[in-house]
Amino acid sequence: MSFQETRLKLAIQKSGRLADDSRELLEKCGIRFIKSRDQLFCTAQDFPLDLFFVRDDDIPAFVASGVCQIGIVGQNVLSEEILVSKNSKLKSVKEVMPLGFGKCRLSIATPHGFDYRGAESLRGKVLATSYSGLLSEFLKDQNVEAEIVDMRGAVEIAPRVGMADAICDLVSTGATLAVNGLSEAEVIFSSQSVLIQGLGIDAQRQEILDRLILRINGVLQAQNSKYIMFHAPVGALDDLCAVLPGSDAPTILELQGRDDKVAVHAVCNEGVFWETMEDLRHAGASDILVVPIEKMLE
Ligand code: ATP
Ligand code: ZN
Repeated sequence: MSFQETRLKLAIQKSGRLADDSRELLEKCGIRFIKSRDQLFCTAQDFPLDLFFVRDDDIPAFVASGVCQIGIVGQNVLSEEILVSKNSKLKSVKEVMPLGFGKCRLSIATPHGFDYRGAESLRGKVLATSYSGLLSEFLKDQNVEAEIVDMRGAVEIAPRVGMADAICDLVSTGATLAVNGLSEAEVIFSSQSVLIQGLGIDAQRQEILDRLILRINGVLQAQNSKYIMFHAPVGALDDLCAVLPGSDAPTILELQGRDDKVAVHAVCNEGVFWETMEDLRHAGASDILVVPIEKMLE
């Protein structure tokens, strides 16, 4: 009889905008895996996790059917699949946690000369999109009837070639819209990548998932945190601590041979910007160092 270790199965995007960030997140969690270019499946070293590399649109269905217990996908894709797919199991897929990458918005964009004054301006118009589910919901909420042309890609060319009056597409910087003579008129859905989970995970796999969530939380917290060190006149300590962003109890250390100054070390859970450093200097700090944190467990 051979011993079979229980392993958690995770579906991630094979290639595309979420692929690198998904793999990088796992690597930062200390999970290493070697994947060759065309491989669809691989086994992680150091952690009981198997990886499936698939198209992002298929990830919710992989998780709903139980082929994988978890997945990493954009909220836009999850919501759209739930709305348009005939697979009723998709409704049981839940978001576990946001992952902070793949941020984008699904927006109505109009060509120059289209006088957009809210959803009402779309009444009777033709709209091209790859997100007919989310767009239909939006139009229904707004009580607006319009025609939807479903396109798989290159949605942004539709108005130029006369296929549509306006589009509804994903935007992150807006550069693609601008190149195609379109401008963003209204955001209908904001999205980022999320960890998703299906129904019916057994206790052993749930334990593995809990370990993974703890590590992901550690990585995300470390990403948003900085370790800050500076020298401070003893008399200015209260003012300086008030300037430190998102830090409750800084460490105060003696400086050898000095009784007028101390060293302050703190973990800041909010952004430390040049303005923060200028404010600290203004309040009396000197020798200010800001360093990234690699890992963090509370
Ligand atoms: P696949 O081949 O896996 O089906 P795809 O071409 O459908 O990939 P990508 O373009 O790789 O998808 O985008 C994947 C996800 O990245 C999107 O669903 C969305 O969540 C996110 N994303 C972030 N910014 C953008 C953007 N500017 N345009 C499109 N998607 C974006
Ligand atoms: Zn896709």
